[in-house]
Amino acid sequence: MRQQADPSGSESLYPEPTLKFRSAGQPTATAGSRSSASQAALSQTTLKKPAEFSGPGLFHGVDARVRLLPAAENTGIMFRRTDLVGKPEVPGRVEYVRSAARRTVLAANGAEVETVEHLMAALAGLQVDNCVVEINAPEVPSGDGSCLMFCDAILNSGIQQLSSPRKLFRPREAHAAAGSGGERIELTPLYGDAPSFCYQLDYGTESPVPMCSFSVDLTPETFMREIAAARTFVPEDEIETLQRMGFGRHLTGRDIVVFCNDGTISDNSLRWADEPVRHKILDCIGDLSLCGLSFVGQIIASKSGHRLNHVMASTVSMISGRGIAVRHAA
Ligand SMILES: [Zn+2]
Repeated sequence: MRQQADPSGSESLYPEPTLKFRSAGQPTATAGSRSSASQAALSQTTLKKPAEFSGPGLFHGVDARVRLLPAAENTGIMFRRTDLVGKPEVPGRVEYVRSAARRTVLAANGAEVETVEHLMAALAGLQVDNCVVEINAPEVPSGDGSCLMFCDAILNSGIQQLSSPRKLFRPREAHAAAGSGGERIELTPLYGDAPSFCYQLDYGTESPVPMCSFSVDLTPETFMREIAAARTFVPEDEIETLQRMGFGRHLTGRDIVVFCNDGTISDNSLRWADEPVRHKILDCIGDLSLCGLSFVGQIIASKSGHRLNHVMASTVSMISGRGIAVRHAA
């Protein structure tokens, strides 16, 4: 574990931002840290100092400025709409998920925050337990469609430990959820130190998005090395439908990975041959973190999207004793 001298005197968990991945090619982003340490033995964390980033949202294209602020233990992830009267807060918890197509939207206190899943994944992947997310628009900036912009900001800020232990949940039995289209997600007990994610992507033989699967034991290092740079993607066939719904009209093939009907990528190139399934795991990590605590278990998912991910996050929240009634439908 590499550490730099820290003028504040507090332990710096990932003091050296080492993001190097900025263009197509094999990602080299890393997070110097402590993968071998047991999550159960760790304290809660927050940022060492405020971090900022800005840019247009993925679906609506509205420019947003975000400040990630250090927060006290047991705050969790709390969004705050600074552009609205009274600066209403929206907890980053599954109880506040509003049903929405193709993204995760949170709503509380008369305010909404859209497309939170990639930022939630960055915070969860780097094991940031507590953070206030100030945002001056309805949708989180998209960056390049991956987690890199958020991870860069978090690692540049630095992460510090707080005094309370991390909230950790280990399931004792398997829990599963399934949809009518063959999608499924299952959480099974695991006796290691890191949660494990295994995802099988299968849009059928007619889809230009190739069938692929990927597994990862999640630590900050594996998250940065294997998952964080994986971008969101869309089959060419779906673009017209999405734009008719008012989504992504500002995007070009440079801003999002578009799979053409012949299987080629429009105006772009993949960072990994299996980048889509890695992004599905990224989404899964972000959505499941809405359960409000860390868990050590194995997630096995097939074709699971945001809606089913939310059902599993709700299940974890309920069986861990932290949950309240969830408003959205399965
Ligand atoms: Zn996504």
